[in-house]
Amino acid sequence: MLRELGQDLTPFEEVRQFILDHIEPLPAEDVPLEEAWDRVLSEHVVCDEPVPGFDNSAMDGYVVRASDVATANAENPVTLEVTARVAAGDAADTPLTPGSAQRIMTGAPIPEGGDAVVPHELTESTETEVIFVVPARSGQNIRRAGGDLSPGDVAVLAGARLRGPQIALVASVGRRTVRATRRPRVAILSPGKELVEPWEKPGPGQVRNSNAHGLAGFVRECGGDPTVLRIVGDDLEEIRAAVKRAIAEGADALLSTGGVSAGDFDFVRQVAEEDGRPGRVFKTSMRPGKPQVFAMIDGKPLWGLPGNPAAAIVSFTVFVRPGLRKLLGERPVVPAPFPVRLTEDIQYRAGRVFMLRARVEPDLESGGYLLASAGDQDSSFLASLSEANAIVELPADREVAPAGDIFPAHWIHPR
Ligand code: AMP
Ligand code: MG
Repeated sequence: MLRELGQDLTPFEEVRQFILDHIEPLPAEDVPLEEAWDRVLSEHVVCDEPVPGFDNSAMDGYVVRASDVATANAENPVTLEVTARVAAGDAADTPLTPGSAQRIMTGAPIPEGGDAVVPHELTESTETEVIFVVPARSGQNIRRAGGDLSPGDVAVLAGARLRGPQIALVASVGRRTVRATRRPRVAILSPGKELVEPWEKPGPGQVRNSNAHGLAGFVRECGGDPTVLRIVGDDLEEIRAAVKRAIAEGADALLSTGGVSAGDFDFVRQVAEEDGRPGRVFKTSMRPGKPQVFAMIDGKPLWGLPGNPAAAIVSFTVFVRPGLRKLLGERPVVPAPFPVRLTEDIQYRAGRVFMLRARVEPDLESGGYLLASAGDQDSSFLASLSEANAIVELPADREVAPAGDIFPAHWIHPR
């Protein structure tokens, strides 16, 4: 439809699919549990023993046969002799004889014959006896062997990112190491005659290289290992040489900002078109972030993002993060959008999907998210972008998105 308008725009979803179709996951390596945090699992971790391994008590209290205390109440208490004491780590090798109770602690194994645990708070006890004033139900306060996981269950699926709960689960099934995808080494290239390092004082017409350092943070957040290359000039051979060198030094992927529009010095597109197999230049259906370059150079993905800082970050979210997730074998490759209700009318230019950088907040009343502030949408400004936590996708065929309407949004830092 957009093409019929003569604008020759490619829907950004199509560009993203093109990119994803060319990326294969990196090889896996053994990673010790202590270093597994935030890594992406490349195997299903399967459980081969029941977890927990034995029936155990969920409370500190007394283990009984439920039938022995079935009639207990305040008027007719039941008194049982306490014949043993089982703590966590004990073997529970004294069977529970009918008409007796055993003191038991949380996590301790249930002795043979016991089928209920009465919490300490519901009893009265002496050195040798315990008095029950409430009945017990068979099975109460007992955590069954295999209740969490049974042999053959997949504890954590391949493609999952290992955070605290997943690592705990992997540990509980007895793993010392896991197979995780190697972290992608991502070289970040900054072509631009006007650029100086952030710690340098810009001369006339010069700007500090903010993109490379910001994107390095995004790469790290995705689980990659970024290297910020030194700035290169607007020179075809210099850019080409920097790309080749980065690949020779082991880069798995390259990110570049700037030099992708139709300006006289936009050589990244030329490198992509001439050296890429394939190498493509897109005019995408989104604003900001219309010009995009993607190439496979010596089998390594290269993203040529626009140079304007906000455009670069929006482009990272839409095109690079999914690509890095594919390199990592992470699932889902494209994080799911979530709904945001606008709290003000948003005016924008029709013709392309508007990627509104905004702060959104949870709304307990509606159970969804509300726009909290839209900030300045100038694609070269960073201050408002740094306040934003989401990108709200507003449709191309309108120029006002009205307050009250719901639109899909994407976290700038998905979790
Ligand atoms: P370009 O696409 O190369 O024409 O760049 C578009 C805009 O982004 C220009 O204002 C550039 O100065 C700016 N820009 C390009 N690269 C960077 C960078 N690494 N850091 C900050 N701004 C940049
Ligand atoms: Mg430039």
